[in-house]
Amino acid sequence: MLKLSGKSVYKGIALGPVVVLKKNDQQVTRVKIADADEELARLETAGEKSKEQLQDLYEKALKEVGEASAAIFEVHQMMLEDEDYLDAIHNMIRTEMINAEYAAAVTGDNFSEMFANMDDDYMKARAADVKDISNRLIKNLMGEEDIDFSSMEPSVILADDLTPSETVQMDKKKILAFVTVHGSINSHTSILARMMNIPALIGVPVDLEEIRSGTQVVVDGFNGEVVFDPSEEVCASARGRMEEEKEKLTLLQTLKGKENITLDGKTINIYANIGSVSDVGYVLENDAGGIGLFRSEFLYLGKEDYPTEEEQFQAYKQVVQTMAGKKVIIRTLDIGADKQVDYFNLGKEDNPAMGYRAIRICLTEPEIFKTQLRALLRATVFGNLSIMYPMITSVEEIKKIYEIMDEVKAQLDADGIPYKMPEQGIMIETPAAVMIGDELAEMVDFFSIGTNDLTQYTLAIDRQNERLDAFYNPHHKAILRMIQMVVDSAHKAGKWAGICGELGADPELTETFVRMGVDELSVAPSMVLRLRKTVREMRAEQ
Ligand code: PEP
Ligand code: MG
Repeated sequence: MLKLSGKSVYKGIALGPVVVLKKNDQQVTRVKIADADEELARLETAGEKSKEQLQDLYEKALKEVGEASAAIFEVHQMMLEDEDYLDAIHNMIRTEMINAEYAAAVTGDNFSEMFANMDDDYMKARAADVKDISNRLIKNLMGEEDIDFSSMEPSVILADDLTPSETVQMDKKKILAFVTVHGSINSHTSILARMMNIPALIGVPVDLEEIRSGTQVVVDGFNGEVVFDPSEEVCASARGRMEEEKEKLTLLQTLKGKENITLDGKTINIYANIGSVSDVGYVLENDAGGIGLFRSEFLYLGKEDYPTEEEQFQAYKQVVQTMAGKKVIIRTLDIGADKQVDYFNLGKEDNPAMGYRAIRICLTEPEIFKTQLRALLRATVFGNLSIMYPMITSVEEIKKIYEIMDEVKAQLDADGIPYKMPEQGIMIETPAAVMIGDELAEMVDFFSIGTNDLTQYTLAIDRQNERLDAFYNPHHKAILRMIQMVVDSAHKAGKWAGICGELGADPELTETFVRMGVDELSVAPSMVLRLRKTVREMRAEQ
């Protein structure tokens, strides 16, 4: 029995055989060639084949895990067309007269190392993507086929780190859990695990050479432990807990269509957070009362250029139409910090989390903001849309937002384009906004507390820094008192206040939040029914 710990990115228990995916970096040898043109033509054919495969993967991912997760395969296709990358391979072939496989392998290693050495966590995570496309190119040059995962029995996937193309090829029904040696909370594996509701542990210090595929394993996403070759006692306990989890899930289904009402009659709205249009399916499946946070910046991520007004309009329209009159709160773009996009040319900053991001970009570059506001306003006539502004710190910012909004409305009026004036709210995610909550509440329709950033700024802890995990305590009294202050400020002005940060989904705090008077909790779709259960079993008055 071997017990190891890692960082859990999704809670749950799994028991089953492990499939060890070793990084089979192809054994590429350096071979002298006689005809560079012929070699470049081979490369070109392999490149085309790779792009076709990636397009197939994109379409498969789109159906299975949604647009946000599928977008990575569009990024891969773009990377395959990247001039710097291709020039480096071409130059090696021509100047050194060597085979395309070797040139692609060396270039892949160099580019991947370059990404791995970048400061930004998101860019660091792209190192695996560069490796992934180079390996695909090499495989196609060598005439190898993709690994066939279709015959796999339900298993726990154990790997160094997983590339997006590896995960998307797997039959999701057959994956019991993910365990990886590397990877970050931003990694594709983590995102996918959360979307698929399966336990996942990252950063587990396991030697892949020592574990054989087929070995039984227990993955405990609740306490971040993985046990290889578990004793019968450990297996029995895991089976018992899995059974309990399953029963809980079945019971939760019976709560669909029921109200979020306490035993003594207090109701609270439970909404869901989404990142892309296709996530709406999860919202409906879990019977959320609305969408409390649509992170619109995902429409900007993984693209080569700004999404057009029409593209955005179509996305917003589809979400509000599908939600059929239920509230949909769309947050204006929150680019910057951990969400970097090349074409924004944000430049390197020493403290990006405290830097040029979110509403600061929108107010500095109003043309970008206006395009989004126009698209949002146009979508208002198709359902129940509200707009929310992120990273607010002052009254002046809201005044400026409203000035820009007035200009956009005037333009739409002049163009004869219909719209309804939506509710406008702000995220409360800076201590400054908490402290002047009374003034801000007079200016907006609602507040939504972003506890992820509020915790980061209040406790002075970079939320992306793994080394500070032990200090990152969103249950800190300072945070809980701030939440109470925000709710009180909103209510005094006759407005509502919700929570859309991760803390809103913390079942240990649901009762506290209801008693504080929080009006809405917006959480991952998979948490909606769990919170409904807690609310229905509690009393608001103590
Ligand atoms: C937050 O900060 O709590 C939040 C909901 O926004 P994001 O996590 O997208 O910064
Ligand atoms: Mg935030």
